[in-house]
Amino acid sequence: TGSAEKEEKAGRRVTFDDVAGQEQAKKEVAELVEFLKHPEEFKKLGAEAPRGVLLVGPPGTGKTLLARALAGEAGVNFFNISASEFIEMFVGVGASRVRKMFDEAKKRAPSIIFIDELDAVGRVRGTGLGGGNDEREQTLNQILSEMDGFSGRETVIVLAATNRPDVLDPALLRPGRFDRHVTLELPDKLARKAILEVHTRKVPVAKDVDLDLVAAGCPGFSGADIKNLVNEAAIAAAREHVDEVAMRHFDESRDKIIMGTVRTLAIQP
Ligand code: ATP
Repeated sequence: TGSAEKEEKAGRRVTFDDVAGQEQAKKEVAELVEFLKHPEEFKKLGAEAPRGVLLVGPPGTGKTLLARALAGEAGVNFFNISASEFIEMFVGVGASRVRKMFDEAKKRAPSIIFIDELDAVGRVRGTGLGGGNDEREQTLNQILSEMDGFSGRETVIVLAATNRPDVLDPALLRPGRFDRHVTLELPDKLARKAILEVHTRKVPVAKDVDLDLVAAGCPGFSGADIKNLVNEAAIAAAREHVDEVAMRHFDESRDKIIMGTVRTLAIQP
């Protein structure tokens, strides 16, 4: 929590420019910037404040990145918490951390709260699934009551990410809670190229590198995979003590990532 400050100090304010592709999702999230910057304009007209936004999409498609970019664009504080952290905790710890985070976010409003992996605590309650984990249910109940507890005066928007919207407790999706949904998709070829461009901004690439070809060669890769691809290519070039990352490094790196993926798929039960 309080990471907005830390990031600003590190000079790494994320903006929409850092999010490549995902045009529709960006457009929907961008609508919240005006609200965060000028909440009084909305309140004046009696418009209800947006409260919760659910970012839905496969792993690595940029949900966290988009939430950070929204905070960066609006210039507001960013608080984040990963719901999967609570599963192993003692009963009561998750709920109290949620309460503290919401208190802090309200105190330092305007702000954004980002809850990653909402499904880890947000599964349908009382089914005995997940072993009837009390900690999980208490944490979920705390999130629900915090979202109901906004008076309407605070400029706080809660974003949450999941790749399993189907398993979420319907209580989370009621009006006033996560009632807006924004979908992120795996990138198509054009979007993969745009993501490659973002991640090669600071990488010296050789003349033989054709990003169209690289993008065409990695169907199914997420944004996170592409970031990894560029990084692995740069590492391969560094190992050879050359000054530029060449096409062969991208090829090598892509094969390595695909082989790695195949291997992890093979050992899954
Ligand atoms: P998870 O569900 O696994 O938490 P996520 O959807 O939140 O994943 P991020 O954590 O935002 O994904 O993505 C990881 C990294 O991958 C980002 O920090 C960024 O560097 C890169 N990345 C992902 N998507 C994009 C994108 N659309 N444009 C540029 N970079 C991206």
